[in-house]
Amino acid sequence: MKYYLLFGPPGAGKGTQAKLLVEKFNFHHVSTGDLLRKEIAKGSELGLKAKTLIDAGNFVDDSIVVGMIESEIAANPDASGFLFDGFPRTVAQAEILDKMLEGKGSQVNKVISIIISDEMVFQRIQHRANIEGRKDDADPKTIQNRIDTYHAKTEPLIEYYKPQGKYNEICGEGTVVEIFEKISSLL
Ligand code: ADP
Repeated sequence: MKYYLLFGPPGAGKGTQAKLLVEKFNFHHVSTGDLLRKEIAKGSELGLKAKTLIDAGNFVDDSIVVGMIESEIAANPDASGFLFDGFPRTVAQAEILDKMLEGKGSQVNKVISIIISDEMVFQRIQHRANIEGRKDDADPKTIQNRIDTYHAKTEPLIEYYKPQGKYNEICGEGTVVEIFEKISSLL
């Protein structure tokens, strides 16, 4: 089983690219953000816990997202491969993922990183706020908190994966098609 990670700041276009990649490569797409929003919509206990954190632009506990990832892997034994989007988001999550996959005789095969500037993150998220109505997209303070959290907690993953030879970086400021072609050529 192959495991690919889509990495990058909020608004980098991970969700957009994931949809296209799933059509082309038939991966099973797992977005922890989408899974959490589904729990919120259901009004589950997990969703209620997650909502306050997400709305403020903070991360949800590692144990919650790790549990969701484990369930997705277990529920899709026939997948041709997995495309994780928004996970791992901390070095601690990456370490847990490595152990989990090692137990299955697998590993992360490649990390595809889509990088855009902080200014572009702001612009894209403010634009998305009008389309998707996400509360965490609406308030500039929350957007700034997500950008700061990305730099502090998620960016260190670059140095985690680089020495393993798994890290591939793409500039996310081109057109959707251009970026899709670049990612496709890496997979
Ligand atoms: P974006 O890429 O725009 O930040 P996502 O949909 O990936 O949006 O995530 C939305 C929110 O869900 C995050 O800001 C965070 O609060 C929570 N979340 C998603 N994935 C994780 C994760 N792996 N660990 C902790 N929190 C997460």
